[in-house]
Amino acid sequence: MHRLQLDGLEVFHLCASRFRLDGGTMFGVVPRPLWEKVLPPDERNRVELSCNCLLVRQGKNLTLIDTGCGSTFTPREQDIFAFDTSHTLSRALAEAGFAPEQVTRVLLTHLHFDHAGGALHFEGGRLRPLFTQATYLVQRGEWEDALQGHSIMKSSYRPQALLPLEESGQLRLLDGDTPLDGHLSTFVTGGHTAHHQGIMIRTDTHTLVYPGELVPTRAHLRLHWNMAYDMFPYQTLTRKRDFLARAAVQHWIVAWDHDPALPWNRLEASGGQFTPVGVEI
Ligand SMILES: [Zn+2]
Repeated sequence: MHRLQLDGLEVFHLCASRFRLDGGTMFGVVPRPLWEKVLPPDERNRVELSCNCLLVRQGKNLTLIDTGCGSTFTPREQDIFAFDTSHTLSRALAEAGFAPEQVTRVLLTHLHFDHAGGALHFEGGRLRPLFTQATYLVQRGEWEDALQGHSIMKSSYRPQALLPLEESGQLRLLDGDTPLDGHLSTFVTGGHTAHHQGIMIRTDTHTLVYPGELVPTRAHLRLHWNMAYDMFPYQTLTRKRDFLARAAVQHWIVAWDHDPALPWNRLEASGGQFTPVGVEI
């Protein structure tokens, strides 16, 4: 269990899922001989990834950032994505010492199944929100795109599996960059989806940023190493370049949503390259 104390805030890393995606798709235009040295693929060309979620405790408020894949998959999907069922959001939450009903807010970067799937679970044969006391926040444009299946990958959005969030009255839609309280805010990145958002956590002496799919793993620190899943690839490249430069100069802690080995790093910049370094508080 990785944990950071940022002044009065506590941040827990929760590994909500372990699964595999096609390595070629994870690295877009990058040839396999290059990416396979960084993330070695299995015999089906898949690389192992984590769904790294963050849990932020501020007094009695518990904010969860992203929810992983959930566990509502068919046997065929189990085979395709090779889910490691020993990792679930509920289990990671329990290991951190919390129950789902203690979570007061869920922030979703976007609504692809590997980020929003864990927001719901089956109860009495029906899909219901897992976090009964929480408000779920996502960009309005992302919600609309998800319901319309507006994606280059047919299986990325599962509209029927999202509707219970609206039916329960727990959904709150955001319009653009949004300060949430004194410490947390969201910022729209675009790139991966039109309304994909990152999360920023600021305290007196620290800044931690969760850029979501803008920089999913440390391997994506290279400027041209971007996912074929991105709706707007050139926007990913330019926004990522600007984001990484700021993160290095301002000494931010950057959390990776899919890195299989580490939840967060700081960055050092040199000659246009970014190197991850350890986080010492
Ligand atoms: Zn995505």
